Formats: sequence, structure tokens, C-alpha cells
Amino acid sequence: MIFCVLVVNLYFIRLECYKIPMEETFEKKRERMVNEQIKARGVTDERILSAFYKIPRHLFVDEKEKSAAYSDHPLPIGYNQTISQPYMVAIMTSYLNLTGRERVLEVGTGSGYQAAILSLLASEVYTIEKIESLAEKAASILKELGITNVHINVGDGSLGLPKDAPFDRIIVTAGSPDIPLPLIEQLEIGGIIVIPVGNRYMQELIVAKKKENELIKKQQEGCIFVPLLGRYGWS
Ligand code: SAM
Repeated sequence: MIFCVLVVNLYFIRLECYKIPMEETFEKKRERMVNEQIKARGVTDERILSAFYKIPRHLFVDEKEKSAAYSDHPLPIGYNQTISQPYMVAIMTSYLNLTGRERVLEVGTGSGYQAAILSLLASEVYTIEKIESLAEKAASILKELGITNVHINVGDGSLGLPKDAPFDRIIVTAGSPDIPLPLIEQLEIGGIIVIPVGNRYMQELIVAKKKENELIKKQQEGCIFVPLLGRYGWS
């Protein structure tokens, strides 16, 4: 009798052990990602760090990539596309200089992770993806997370999103040969665009502020993004 009770207890203790560490592991990994990959490299804005703590990155990657979801590199999301390296998402977000009141356009929804981060830092996020299945998958993850201020569109984002323009901020998460003209036109005066510009294989992050008659550009770090395809991107 005593032996049976012991066996049953041990069984439940083992079950509990399996349950708790699964949750703790992703949280712990996320905490380390924020501290070691983002904060330690100079992105220290508490609002941005808090957004990275809150959004469960492992939900945005395929089952087989989940264990690597908090590692320091991009990961495949299917269709030859990637979810960007966490630090790159963080640094691009920081260049947007968000106060919480902005309407933001993201070109290249991909997994939806960058849009989820932006949803906590801006008022409304409009995002456009050319691959319909990725847009659908991103929409279902954002819904599952209860995020309601991200509006997902399917189409050629190199043309911007005229129906919802103008935007206070624009972020392009694919490498472009230049800053697409429609994006400049759809940016508010005083607005900021962050975009990787270069050849198909290597780019520089450009942060540009729109003035009345000019675009003030600043070149930041080098980066490697998948190509922005479309009318104002690569063919
Ligand atoms: N921001 C994404 C995330 O958080 O997962 C990562 C984006 S991934 C590096 C680049 C994405 O841009 C791909 O999903 C690709 O299909 C998309 N893309 C490329 N050209 C595009 C275009 N002209 N319009 C919209 N999306 C485009």
C-alpha cells in the first residue's frame, strides 16, 4: 500500500517537473536574450526592453526552430524568408524613436514578430507582406496573443500602403536597392524611415528623417537582409 502511494506521488512529482521547466526555459532564455544580446549592445530604452520581455518569440518560429528562438541570429520561417536577429529588431526599433502615439508602417511582415514588438510601442501598426501564407500565419499568432492594433495587408510593400498613408514612421525589414519613392511620399513631415539599403546580399541600415523639402539620411551599421522584391525593390 505504502509502496503504491509512493509510486503515484513520484509519478505526479515527475509530471510537475516536466511542466514547470518548459515554461521557465523560454522565459529564462528570453531574459538572457534581452540582457546579453540587446541591453549589453547598447539598446537600453526600458520601453523597448520591456516589449522584448513580453513578446514570446518562440511562438513566431516553426516547431523545429523553437529551441533556437532566443539565439543570436535570424531563423528560417519558410518560403526562403527569415525572422530577423533579435538585436537587429531591437536596434531598428530604437531608431524609430517611438513615443507611443505613432502610426507605423512595416514593410515585410514575415513572422509578425517585429510587428508584435511595435504594437507595444506605437499607437497603430500597419504591416504589409507579399507572401500571403506568411501574412495569414502572422495574423493568427497576433490574434492568439490578443494584439489588436496591428493591421496586416498582403501586397507589394515597395509601393507602401496608400490607403492608410501618411505614416509617422516606416520600417522596411528587407534589403532594398534604394529608398522607394512611394515610401518617402507616404511619410509625414518630421517622420522617420528605417531601411536596409545596398545590394542583394549586403546592406547598410539607413535612418532618414523627412523635412519639408529634403530627406536627412544617416548611415548606421551594416546588415544582411533578404531582398525587398517588387516594383521599387529587386525584380
Ligand atoms: N519583420 C519580419 C519578422 O519580424 O519576422 C522579418 C521580415 S523578413 C527578413 C523579410 C520579409 O519581407 C519576408 O517575409 C518577405 O516575404 C517580405 N518582402 C519582401 N519583399 C516584399 C515586398 N515588396 N512587399 C512586402 N513584403 C516583402
